Amino acid sequence: MTRPVLRFYNSLSRAVEPFRPIDPANVRVYSCGPTVYDYAHLGNLRAYVFTDTLARTLRWRDHPVTHVMNITDVGHLQSDADEGEDKMEARAREAGGDIWTIARTYTAAFQRDLADLRIVQPTRMPLATDHIAEMIAFAETIADRHCYLLDTGLYFDTSTVPDYGRLARARDDEGEHRIDPVAGKRHPQDFAIWRRSAAHENRQMEWDSPWGRGAPGWHLECSVMSRLYLGERFDIHTGGVDHREIHHPNEIAQNQAYCGCADTGATVWMHNNFLVERSGKMSKSSGEFLTLGALVRRGFHPLAFRLMCLQAHYRSEMEFGWDGLVAATVRLKRLVQATAASRARAGEAVDDTPAPPAVEALLARFDEAVCDDLATPRALVALDELLALRKLPPAAVLVGVGRMDKVLGLDLLALDRAALRTRPADAILDEAAVEAKLAERREARAARDFARSDAIRDELAAAEIEVMDGDELGWDWRPRA
Ligand code: AMP
Ligand code: ZN
Repeated sequence: MTRPVLRFYNSLSRAVEPFRPIDPANVRVYSCGPTVYDYAHLGNLRAYVFTDTLARTLRWRDHPVTHVMNITDVGHLQSDADEGEDKMEARAREAGGDIWTIARTYTAAFQRDLADLRIVQPTRMPLATDHIAEMIAFAETIADRHCYLLDTGLYFDTSTVPDYGRLARARDDEGEHRIDPVAGKRHPQDFAIWRRSAAHENRQMEWDSPWGRGAPGWHLECSVMSRLYLGERFDIHTGGVDHREIHHPNEIAQNQAYCGCADTGATVWMHNNFLVERSGKMSKSSGEFLTLGALVRRGFHPLAFRLMCLQAHYRSEMEFGWDGLVAATVRLKRLVQATAASRARAGEAVDDTPAPPAVEALLARFDEAVCDDLATPRALVALDELLALRKLPPAAVLVGVGRMDKVLGLDLLALDRAALRTRPADAILDEAAVEAKLAERREARAARDFARSDAIRDELAAAEIEVMDGDELGWDWRPRA
């Protein structure tokens, strides 16, 4: 059977295109990683659920993948353009702490978030600060022909490369991101390659360079690390849609300057849309923001958030709301329940057993969906239908679930009901106490002591536990949303 063509939306052409890997036996993907001055918020994590879905889909299509995701521990200013302070330095100053400790702390927290969301560890996660020498060497190569020196540092002249801003289509954009206070810049879009420390600045992270003591501009690290680990030309570069406007056009400009050609580095540039709250885009600098830890403390399972992300197409804006998370939790429970029921009946499923035609047909629909620019909402429908095929031997269903879950990453073959019955950190009753109360209530009902049974129900309700008599999925209770 011929499989559908794998297609991705390329932000360069603003069109869905067939994916043609440079080397089908090693697809090379670079993802802009987090800036580690704080926890990742749920919007950042949406970006990494997207890159994970991409990497998993490439593997599903039998392509080995080299996936590089950088850790930005220096250089990212408070605005994506050359405005404000270095986010890392600003945080260290506010906290009165050691910047390297801050970077290590939040890098480790990010790694835990990835693991909790079953995001496959990228092949490499290089740190910007481990590549200062390479960044200086890169800048030296392009400095004469493409850069100019100001008191504040070395700047890239965007008029020296072909078609600057093609990705953003923002050549004439004078929008808010383009307002730039740096005196002496030749064009508003020009950007710092190396930033000189000001006399009063007192940075914790700074290095000597031919352009003075200071730190690299943010865009430089991604040009340097993608080139170092993936080569001058590689397949896919990802980031949030904000990166399409400044960071990625600037990376492309640097890549072109370095190769002395019109190549953009990556062939395909892919961008996830934002996770938004009713009050606006979720952002780390906006004070209060939602982390995966906060969600878990409220009693949600991280994979409910992963499922919530998969229910939306990565190019659509997604609104975060607790109701939506409750709905995703219910859907995840259904999936886990149905899979667990098949598991109980089938024993161990063997992944490479041939699947019967009904399962193959749904796998083909799943394939068609994920290959169509990662249409995960449609892929999930194929999974729902597979689990609804009641007449098939359970082992056959499990083979299909196992294959689909390689892309979805919901851990369906391992999760059980108990794992999903998480409780808020500040819950009045822990899980064992709830179970004990329910056992007591069952005894009361068996003894037809309905007054006692109702009293226990009320007691549980006061502790935010809803008793679910006769729930079709067989759940005895759930935390109140
Ligand atoms: P940062 O830690 O700010 O460097 O961002 C890490 C990644 O998250 C980048 O790819 C951003 O484009 C992406 N991102 C930031 N905010 C959001 C959001 N609200 N929704 C989705 N992605 C986001
Ligand atoms: Zn980047």
